[in-house]
Amino acid sequence: ESAARQRARELFGAARRITALTGAGISTASGIPDFRGPDGVWTRNPEAARLSDIDSYLADESVREKAWRARAEHAAWRAEPNDAHRAFVDLDAAGRLRALLTQNIDELHQRAGLAADKVVELHGTMRRTICVDCGAPGLMLAALERVAAGETDPPCPSCGGIMKSAVVFFGEPLDTEVIRSARSAALDCDLFLAAGTSLSVHPAAGFAELATRAGARLIICNAEPTPYDDLADAVLRGPLAEVVPDLVAAPVSDSAEP
Ligand code: NAD
Ligand code: ZN
Repeated sequence: ESAARQRARELFGAARRITALTGAGISTASGIPDFRGPDGVWTRNPEAARLSDIDSYLADESVREKAWRARAEHAAWRAEPNDAHRAFVDLDAAGRLRALLTQNIDELHQRAGLAADKVVELHGTMRRTICVDCGAPGLMLAALERVAAGETDPPCPSCGGIMKSAVVFFGEPLDTEVIRSARSAALDCDLFLAAGTSLSVHPAAGFAELATRAGARLIICNAEPTPYDDLADAVLRGPLAEVVPDLVAAPVSDSAEP
């Protein structure tokens, strides 16, 4: 892989305006399992996907009770950012990060110190709640305190309706403002870096293709193959906590076309 690594470092060093797309693979080194990797939550238990399906969630109180328990036990509450998260902070400090689009809901990019206005949370955040009936927002930790105190499916404090985590469930659309800023970041970069994502969830995966059609270079860093590998200028399979810092540390070159 050393030829691919060298090529990727040259491309990265030549880039001035980088848009990144991250997925669950960025956070596995922090102890949060991904969904579709070998140790993924769904690979081990396909039933778990039902907890994030909006129709099952609204229809079935037992699904909601399981979902609240899963939220309380989520590995993200104990997780710390790793070197891959930190590398994006360095990239931003160097003035070269246009935006970081993430499918992750764990907020570890922000916890690593990345400015919130650089992060586009495509799938929302698990640290907040939202009422499906009145839209009232809340803090997840406040809801989880009620769960710990014995409420199995805590109702909305404002209207008594059904609360969920502020993440995008299957069957729910993405926020239109969020899609708009993700699209403009994909169109307005000279290099698009996809890291730790199987590129199998749309529209997130489509931003990589959009960027290349607008002329950006594409680097994919992921342990397993993705449907977009053939489109990429370089594909790296190594562990992200090493690969991403290695790219960010690549010397910045003068030439725009390596
Ligand atoms: P995914 O599970 O489909 O893919 C993750 C990819 O990362 C896999 O292909 C895997 O091979 C790779 N990977 C895992 N660890 C790696 C490592 N250390 N180095 C290199 N590659 C590694 O995840 P996705 O594409 O993000 O899509 C899944 C959905 O799951 C998203 O919608 C996201 O919202 C959600 N999710 C989020 C979290 C989180 O917030 N941390 C965790 C699980 C799932
Ligand atoms: Zn409500």
